[in-house]
Amino acid sequence: MPETIHEKALRLIGAGAVTIRFQGDHVIDADVHGDHDTYPVVIEVGDRERCMCPASGDCSHLLAVLAVALQRNTGLPPAVTLGKVGV
Ligand SMILES: [Zn+2]
Repeated sequence: MPETIHEKALRLIGAGAVTIRFQGDHVIDADVHGDHDTYPVVIEVGDRERCMCPASGDCSHLLAVLAVALQRNTGLPPAVTLGKVGV
């Protein structure tokens, strides 16, 4: 069975692939070392989310960054926060 984007996001987080460069109240700026390349991810909270990878729509990189950012804010582990971002 192919890996879901949630599973892949958890794997990326577990591998330490997420680097948050800046996390403010309204914007999160990060890099994710994906399977093939490193993708910059910019999340404007409550507005739009942008990942530079070739996938269209929501991808594992965005989820991984959101989960790491939420973990910093809430202390909840990524496995929990990923369920809450509900993509
Ligand atoms: Zn992506």
